Amino acid sequence: MKKIISIVALTAISASLLAGCGNSSDVSKDNSSDSNSSSNPSSSSTSKVNIGCAIYKFDDTFMTGVRNTISDAAKEKGADIDIVDSQNSQPTQNDKVDLFITKKVSSLAINPVDRNAAGVIIDKAKAANTPVVFFNREPLADDMKKWDKVFYVGAKAEESGTIEGQLVVDYFKAHPEADKNKDGVIQYVMLKGEPGHQDAELRTKYSIQAITDAGMKVEKLAEDTAMWDRVKGQEKMSAFLGSKGDKIEVVIANNDDMALGAIEALKGSGYFKGNKYMPVVGVDATAPALQALQDGTLLGTVLNDAKNQGKATFNLAYVLGQGQTPSKDNTGYDITDGKYVWVPYKKITKDNINDAK
Ligand code: BGC
Repeated sequence: MKKIISIVALTAISASLLAGCGNSSDVSKDNSSDSNSSSNPSSSSTSKVNIGCAIYKFDDTFMTGVRNTISDAAKEKGADIDIVDSQNSQPTQNDKVDLFITKKVSSLAINPVDRNAAGVIIDKAKAANTPVVFFNREPLADDMKKWDKVFYVGAKAEESGTIEGQLVVDYFKAHPEADKNKDGVIQYVMLKGEPGHQDAELRTKYSIQAITDAGMKVEKLAEDTAMWDRVKGQEKMSAFLGSKGDKIEVVIANNDDMALGAIEALKGSGYFKGNKYMPVVGVDATAPALQALQDGTLLGTVLNDAKNQGKATFNLAYVLGQGQTPSKDNTGYDITDGKYVWVPYKKITKDNINDAK
């Protein structure tokens, strides 16, 4: 009997100790671990953060990198996260958001299918008082202003376009023979991502602007969307080769997957054998793109930092889920205008390939 009583007493003591662990003093302990990336999953067990996360589609190379980072960060923190595939359908994503809200998640992390639809998601989140972090597809500024618990993690699309254009400038300066018809004009083809996506529109614009800003002349031979997709990139490039052939002097793609598709098409037309070469540039620095850089088929790319974008997205959703306001101290990232985390891009060539690994 004595033994039973002492077990009951011990259980009560340890339960009260555990409950103490879940209060605000523990919250600050969890946050301080952001900087050294260590974690103490058991410490938050009484008030576990539970995040609902939707990706625009799982079948996207770059977003798979961001998704894996988010999932790893959640594991490290001992947070519950449900990551779902919106299958490139905004109505599907809206249904998933409704479900998350019904399940009373502590916060949302949303990669919108259509960035113009973010306003609807914000209205739903606000009505349920569930903070939301958007990422990769930037909501319109007016929507971002709808509520103070709305955040965005991404990278400045203009910056990636400018760096991509600089890769072309560097190449043509170092290789005057790349101007195959010697007319002093760079004849280019452009493979665009999804129309309306800030990265597709601004990379297209700023890559060309960087070339003309460097005092070089350009002529667009062809431009088409390949929707961020490798197979479509290959198809569009085959069509460009069919209509423009050897007139093409450079291929500019809004992302690496489309650049890699273009490289396949070029290989099919005898490029990258002997001295038949075509400069091709992309954005992302995905693993297959780094391999192509190494192989000498891809000329250059721009690091779109999936790791930091994923980590920042998780960290913001995590502190919001704990009822805190995100700051540099509790997330490890600068918050601009109280709402935005901007992760920098970086120029990557074969020379600094390790910076992207
Ligand atoms: C990436 C693309 C990706 C797209 C998805 C862009 O930032 O560069 O590779 O397909 O995001 O939204």
